[in-house]
Amino acid sequence: MPRFRQILDTMPAYKPGKAVVAPDGRSFKLSSNESPFDPLPSVVEAIAEGARQINRYPDPGATQLTEAIAERYDVPFEHVALGAGSVTVAQQLFETVGEPGAEVVYAWRSFEAYPLLADLAGATSVRVPLAGEDHDLDAMAKAITPATRMVFVCNPNNPTGTSVRRAELTAFLDRVPEDVLVVLDEAYREYVRDEDVPDGLTLYRDRPNVAVLRTFSKAYGLAGLRVGYLIAHEPVAATVRKTIIPFAVNHLAQVAAVASLRAEDELSERVERVVKERTRVREALIAQGWDVPPTEANFVWLRLGERTLDFAAACAVEGVAVRPFAGEGARVSIGDAEANDAFLTAAARFRERTQGA
Ligand SMILES: *Cc1c(COP(=O)(O)O)cnc(C)c1O
Repeated sequence: MPRFRQILDTMPAYKPGKAVVAPDGRSFKLSSNESPFDPLPSVVEAIAEGARQINRYPDPGATQLTEAIAERYDVPFEHVALGAGSVTVAQQLFETVGEPGAEVVYAWRSFEAYPLLADLAGATSVRVPLAGEDHDLDAMAKAITPATRMVFVCNPNNPTGTSVRRAELTAFLDRVPEDVLVVLDEAYREYVRDEDVPDGLTLYRDRPNVAVLRTFSKAYGLAGLRVGYLIAHEPVAATVRKTIIPFAVNHLAQVAAVASLRAEDELSERVERVVKERTRVREALIAQGWDVPPTEANFVWLRLGERTLDFAAACAVEGVAVRPFAGEGARVSIGDAEANDAFLTAAARFRERTQGA
């Protein structure tokens, strides 16, 4: 048996959201926070056109896409670093700080990829328990030691959907030493409607140790193509760019992302529809008697504790795939109205059955 790194024996495996099919053939995938809409015709066209060039390597610097992002957010070209999905950009960030003894602080539970990426990069995870369903920024600030290299703040938080507000986040940033990188993971930024939830891009501009992570996978509907990015001051962005695997962002992902930025009006209309459905789903769940934390993302969170796996099984019977975290709770993406209705039916039936028992 070849000898591998010891950490691989204990590293948690990433569990992707699954699809399920009901006995009657219905299948609603509400387990991966994807966009429920078919790709836009203009984006499909750009991909089809781009397919004519796939015998060539992609532009390694992704110049067009980097320019389009820089222009869209009014940031310097040099402040943008791309990756094959923002998970990969997060991995690159861990690579920039990961070495024996380096600590990375993040809330728990939060995005499942953080512990995995920390282990892979040889960094030590420091998990700070959520306070209820929210980031405990005070405890996170206290968890920072001279060994801390990086802090992740997932805003809104996956899987609880809760958000950190402007006042508490700026107060937190003021407490973080300048040599500690703070990453604001804003994969769901486009779904945020609460004006007190800050746009990380307004916070990074005068803070050289703050980086903002964004993705084309969720609101932009390009999950299958893998493209995400980071915006940070030049020393941070340049360091992250050093860790990219050459040609990581493929040509089709680049052209599709550029086309998506051009189609933002159409895409924001879709985001708005999801936000309306989010309100409808949350209110219906509350009317059924559930506790549902306020969510600014494209999913809701139900803290089910020991009933989590039963609940996921009950949803599967209705053809609804949710994302269970055994012993903790279930995250349910907002889909189209039909999928959401199927989920609400499953939730109501589960309640009736378990309340009656
Ligand atoms: C979905 C998600 C991402 C984005 O993943 P991609 O690699 O861009 O598809 C990043 N962070 C969080 C918290 C997420 O939920």
